[in-house]
Amino acid sequence: MPLATGSEILEAARAGSYGVGAFNTNDMEITQAVLEACESSRSPVLLSLSEGALKYGGKALVDMVLSMGRDASVPVCVHLDHGSSFESCVRCIRMGFTSVMIDKSHEDEETNIAETKRVVEVAHAAGVTVEAEIGRLGGVEEHVVVAEEDAILTKPDEAERFMEQSGADYLAIAIGTSHGANKGKGRPYIDHKRIREIAALLPHPLVMHGASGVPTYLVERLNAAGGQLKDASGIHEDDVREAVKHGIAKINTDTDLRIAFTAAVREVLLEKPKEFDPRKILGPARDLMREVVLERLQVFGSAGKA
Ligand SMILES: [Zn+2]
Repeated sequence: MPLATGSEILEAARAGSYGVGAFNTNDMEITQAVLEACESSRSPVLLSLSEGALKYGGKALVDMVLSMGRDASVPVCVHLDHGSSFESCVRCIRMGFTSVMIDKSHEDEETNIAETKRVVEVAHAAGVTVEAEIGRLGGVEEHVVVAEEDAILTKPDEAERFMEQSGADYLAIAIGTSHGANKGKGRPYIDHKRIREIAALLPHPLVMHGASGVPTYLVERLNAAGGQLKDASGIHEDDVREAVKHGIAKINTDTDLRIAFTAAVREVLLEKPKEFDPRKILGPARDLMREVVLERLQVFGSAGKA
């Protein structure tokens, strides 16, 4: 079936008070793991490609992801994660993406609105929907490292003004989560009151970045197989469930699949030193990622919605 737009999937999610996963992919195994988990649980999904993924996999990766998305038996949207420029968004729209994110959250409000609006006009003309971001998450991302003290939580009145003026379709908000596998000591927090306040002013689907669970059992498996992932911590699944109840419709997940992939590959290499068939090394990684996606979908509440 044709790919769905981000709005088609996310407006239903916001209306139905469930969350949809946006999983980052860079290769065939990740894409298959995500789609197989979504098909078996009947979940709609967004497959996200970052600019780093586009640089890594080029047109071959994009063509493969678009084709696999169209062949899936559940609604799939192919989304540009953290587009850094108008040009980058237009390039993805031309390639067939059905959703783009323009991230000018590090600019001043006026520039963020103007640049987002420019992308919205082109995207909407092409039948593509748009994510924007205001506020600033802490953590590490491909194109930006934000120290915790520079992170800025999204202000509700600013969010309302931004969506009115930019015309964006869904909004990433900074609510205490951060990118990467080290989300802070103890139990990283989510500002639930802030989500409720923003959701009360905005009917749009809200987006949560940096919300990986970083499950302890996966980190332990990775480290037991020779990995060195220290001080790893993620967002508790109860926090994700509550955020979804209050208006979060799109939940980005990258770190959890990276950890699962690496843990499984390390285990094979450690336990089977004679193995040199790439399929026997990457296959178990795909299996473990599929399980992790299924766990996430249960937490988000999207299982059975497609
Ligand atoms: Zn992000």
